[in-house]
Amino acid sequence: MSSQRLSDNITVIDAPINGKTGILGTYLVTGEKNAVIDPGPTSQTRGVIDEMRKLGVKNLDWVLATHIHLDHAGGSWLLLNEYPESMLYCHPKGVAHMVEPSKLRDAAERLFGERILEYGEIRGVQESRVQASRDHEIIDLDGVTLEVYWTPGHSSHSQCYFEPDSRTAFVGDAIGHTIGDGGPVRPASPPPHNPVQALESIDLIRSLDPETLCVAHFGAYKDPEMYLERISSRTRLWMRLAEKIVDDGMRLDDLVALTMREDHELKDHIKGVEGADHSVKPSLLGFYLYAKWVKNG
Ligand SMILES: [Zn+2]
Repeated sequence: MSSQRLSDNITVIDAPINGKTGILGTYLVTGEKNAVIDPGPTSQTRGVIDEMRKLGVKNLDWVLATHIHLDHAGGSWLLLNEYPESMLYCHPKGVAHMVEPSKLRDAAERLFGERILEYGEIRGVQESRVQASRDHEIIDLDGVTLEVYWTPGHSSHSQCYFEPDSRTAFVGDAIGHTIGDGGPVRPASPPPHNPVQALESIDLIRSLDPETLCVAHFGAYKDPEMYLERISSRTRLWMRLAEKIVDDGMRLDDLVALTMREDHELKDHIKGVEGADHSVKPSLLGFYLYAKWVKNG
């Protein structure tokens, strides 16, 4: 467990899940009021709360979800219990699922199987403690503000937060994941994924002119232009490859093989990273199903 101060008002908390750190970054934003961005799944949120106690955080006003997937917002109920004055904030499409999380659990089970046991208890939150977001809304923490931007693509309920003083963007999964230690970015694209919307969201994030990108999985990056260029060019390449495979009537495994041939940087990078090749296939599935949907409706 560790936490690191990124600016006067921003601290990243890296609480472990199943003993591993560096999986999902939780961001604490502090003014007179305080907010936590992406508390993680319940098992991780316990560590986040311990770290907040150590940091002397007495009050919490907002639990801000970049989207409602369990690995980002599953432990929200625990933070809301710990800080009875706090409210959960998420995209309007996510509110009902945060209150009644059975669909979220089913979707995570389909994707991760038994591994969702690592998430810990899955529990809904009281409807009266959830506020639906509005695009371009401003969250005022008295001394620091966060701007809210809807950024669909990874999911229909994805949103980013932007802190204009330090020009920090908290992007969730909107611009993909890093593979290994700051390596090239992989689209975060298990189905249902919309790569056209994802590209528009990447452009929106670029238009904010951020100085730091806080990527959920994982890290704060100081060279946004390079990062955003990599993720958008890779997204365009994977879209082209998926379209070709679907046009030729071929299967997902063929797309995986073709991508490993055509995406040289990815191929070189994942060589040394344990488990990275497994994570590429579910990401490509999102592109494959999107290409099929475009072709066949
Ligand atoms: Zn995620």
